[in-house]
Amino acid sequence: MSTTADLVALAGRVMTPNYAPAPLVFARGEGVWLHDTEGKAYLDFAAGIAVSALGHAHPALVRALTEQARSVLHVSNLWLNEPALRLAERLTGLSFADRVYFGNSGAEANEAAFKLARRYMRLVRGEDRYGFICMEKSFHGRTWAAITATGQAKYHEGFAPLVPGFSHVPFNDLAAVEAAIEPTTCAIVVEPLQGEGGVLPAAPGYLAGLRKLCDAHGILLIFDEVQTGVGRTGRWFGHEHAGVTPDIMTLAKGLAGGVPISAMVCTEAVAQGFAPGAHASTFGGNPLACRAGLAVVDTIEAEDLVGNTDRLGALLQAGLTSLEDRPGVIMARGQGLLQGLVVDTEVLDRGAVVAEARRLGLLVTLAGYDTIRLSPPLVVGRAHVEQAVELLGAAIDAVAGGK
Ligand SMILES: *Cc1c(COP(=O)(O)O)cnc(C)c1O
Repeated sequence: MSTTADLVALAGRVMTPNYAPAPLVFARGEGVWLHDTEGKAYLDFAAGIAVSALGHAHPALVRALTEQARSVLHVSNLWLNEPALRLAERLTGLSFADRVYFGNSGAEANEAAFKLARRYMRLVRGEDRYGFICMEKSFHGRTWAAITATGQAKYHEGFAPLVPGFSHVPFNDLAAVEAAIEPTTCAIVVEPLQGEGGVLPAAPGYLAGLRKLCDAHGILLIFDEVQTGVGRTGRWFGHEHAGVTPDIMTLAKGLAGGVPISAMVCTEAVAQGFAPGAHASTFGGNPLACRAGLAVVDTIEAEDLVGNTDRLGALLQAGLTSLEDRPGVIMARGQGLLQGLVVDTEVLDRGAVVAEARRLGLLVTLAGYDTIRLSPPLVVGRAHVEQAVELLGAAIDAVAGGK
């Protein structure tokens, strides 16, 4: 077997240089634990960026994938496949939505949402509305329209000209949205909790206010729940915290527990913006991915992982709040098992904290400009959460102590 050093060198030669991976290779995972090729164990509070909802090697997911691989992996959308139809049936049953389109990544689901919104306005409503009002510090993916919607300049660098028709306003500022609305506004695009932007939840009343503005002006409301959907925040979907529903919602990360999939779900009325041939994906909704998605949704329900996420999210947030007495730690914030520790980067080097945590056996990620993100699998237990808080506290102490 190759050494980690060999693989670091190989990556340096054969991969495009858009990633900077830590020198770590995993041999296997089990539940909330990952084991590297040198035999060291890590508590996985990254979960592949809020993806591995059932943790690693969950028997229900392994069984579903194995069975599906033995029958049929892929057929295309030229024919029906039952796993896709059953997963769509489940998603519509669990949410406001009536109709589902499947893609393979979060960015693709957002592309589908933007295309559907414009096409619906023009071909169903007969109105020339094409503008999208998006939020500063948002993140919507890396395709061209998705980076255009994303309200962070670092993702735009070198890629101009961007896609026309997108504007940005500060997040959690209703008056700014109202001021930005024009007769050509098609949709408002928002994450119910900004994930990549720094684990920042919508303020109380904000999403309801957006819903009201959309209804008053005939505008569609799009919730990007690629990170917050499918149980992550302690509700099936993040917007349930606010008690309002969108017209279109996108899902991806946790939906199939690590198998690439995404979904754009919408109301019956808005779905009429699409017709045969209007949009498509070769892989989208393939039987393997959808069978995995079904296993994830069924397991979340069978094991009450939404309830577990709500309870252990509160425990994790309380634990992180207890770290607020550390030098350079500003505050804990988040919902469910999507929690962030905001730090003063002048006082505390958060990159060093993440590296030290890794050395101590805890995997966490960065978000935004000043946040350390914790997003463990939804199957996490009380002892894991307590251990993670202890390890993160120790990592902060080590870095703050100038180690
Ligand atoms: C991760 C993420 C995306 C992009 O998903 P990809 O699968 O990387 O394309 C879009 N929106 C949000 C809110 C995300 O967190």
